Amino acid sequence: MAPIQKECDYLVIGGGSGGLASARRASGMYGAKVMAIENKRLGGTCVNVGCVPKKVTWFAASIAETIKEAKAYGFSVDETAPFNWSMFKDKRDAYVKRLNGIYEKNLKNDKVEYLHGTASFVDLHTVKVALDDQTEVSIKAKKILVAVGGYPNLPDVEGAELGITSDGFFELETQPKKVAVVGAGYIAVEMAGMFHALGTETHLFIRHDTFLRTFDPMIQEKVTAEYERQGIHLHKQSSQSKLEDIGNGQKRLHYKDQNGEGTMDIDTCLWAIGRSPELEKLNIDITKIDRNEKHHIKVDKYQNTNVPHIYALGDVSDSGMELTPVAIAAGRRLSDRLFGGQTDAHLDYTNIPSVVFAHPEVGSIGLTEPQARDKFGDENIKVYTTSFTAMYYSMMEPEDKGPTSYKIVCQGKDEKVVGLHIMGIGSGEMLQGFGVAVKMGATKADFDRCVAIHPVSAEELVTMK
Ligand SMILES: Cc1cc2nc3c(=O)[nH]c(=O)nc-3n(C[C@H](O)[C@H](O)[C@H](O)COP(=O)(O)OP(=O)(O)OC[C@H]3O[C@@H](n4cnc5c(N)ncnc54)[C@H](O)[C@@H]3O)c2cc1C
Repeated sequence: MAPIQKECDYLVIGGGSGGLASARRASGMYGAKVMAIENKRLGGTCVNVGCVPKKVTWFAASIAETIKEAKAYGFSVDETAPFNWSMFKDKRDAYVKRLNGIYEKNLKNDKVEYLHGTASFVDLHTVKVALDDQTEVSIKAKKILVAVGGYPNLPDVEGAELGITSDGFFELETQPKKVAVVGAGYIAVEMAGMFHALGTETHLFIRHDTFLRTFDPMIQEKVTAEYERQGIHLHKQSSQSKLEDIGNGQKRLHYKDQNGEGTMDIDTCLWAIGRSPELEKLNIDITKIDRNEKHHIKVDKYQNTNVPHIYALGDVSDSGMELTPVAIAAGRRLSDRLFGGQTDAHLDYTNIPSVVFAHPEVGSIGLTEPQARDKFGDENIKVYTTSFTAMYYSMMEPEDKGPTSYKIVCQGKDEKVVGLHIMGIGSGEMLQGFGVAVKMGATKADFDRCVAIHPVSAEELVTMK
């Protein structure tokens, strides 16, 4: 059957954070004729296998922690109350499904034509879409946005496919009793933290001595130490050579760590070792779009690729910031520029706040201390730090008290805040407001001029000496 022919001003490939934001802005606000293609579930990684189900699970993990801590406040709660993982998963799935529906409705409201199928380039202006019913649609587009995101990598280890990735975390129907999580980035750290808080025996395998290695050294050291204090089993300087199926749903992981070689029998091995751009089905090579050594599409600050009418953003691009709000903001700015006459519209990639939903939470914006020293020279950097016990822990025994640590990195005579790194209860919510200040170019004196709110942990950030 000959493919159905369609034409549009703007074809968006990928119905995730960046693609949907850009498509809706172009059509809903500027009236462009827009089509969007998605081959899995609308909302992309964030909604289906990322931020959203992760944060909901993090809330469950935080409740588990609160139940443990409630005793110190005089409540008689049963600490061993089992967590009903399957019931929770069903509810979480239903919530995500509702969101998928809302995203589809939003596309309709903004008059974006949506096709569910897999897109691949035919030539520089034509993309074919294989729909679910095998029908083929051929779309000729004036402008094309590639916003296909990424997928989690498996390591080159024998039997690696017997493990799961972060996608598989959200498919687990029952709670594993014992897991190995391999990786040191934020996804590994978040998932290890959630498993542990919910009562799974958790082993975290990292290649070096600390995790979150792109974060400020204070964050790396303090959160690593805190995970050890909480009883997460850290395997430092580790590598894995084999994962095997030993029956009864059990796996055996062969590894090396700081203590030498070993094997471990586990229910689940979760690889969280990085992500790659999802380009396999896109036939991208015929476009001759430039990519970097990790295959991310190279873009300039306007999200232009080297092909004049093809753009890329979000996790598939080489922006280096794999975060939902980054993809959304880049997508909206791009449509403002292409269809809204705002010729200079682009996302400023500096000072973007981000949070790790570890236990405790971590927030970070701007430069780490080493980055700031490298960039401005030691003599131009002044660093303020504080570590204290949040009032929440005042009712608890010393061994149950979690840490709180903050660092402000300042540059120059006027002590402009160029980096802010915080860990402790509430850091996620706290950072958004401080992020506005840092983005506006606040100095240490500006922080100090803001009268403290008492008693909250955040008051330490405006009273640091
Ligand atoms: C476990 C996890 C937790 C995360 N937590 C956070 C968080 O707390 N905060 C945060 O800001 N970010 C978080 N992220 C990152 C965030 O999810 C991504 O940065 C964001 O989703 C990127 O958006 P995107 O539009 O680039 O791609 P995606 O959202 O991945 O969307 C791309 C879409 O394109 C589709 N697609 C791919 N190829 C084709 C094709 N050929 N044809 C049609 N469709 C195609 C895919 O199915 C996908 O739906 C998390 C990620 C993970 C994995």
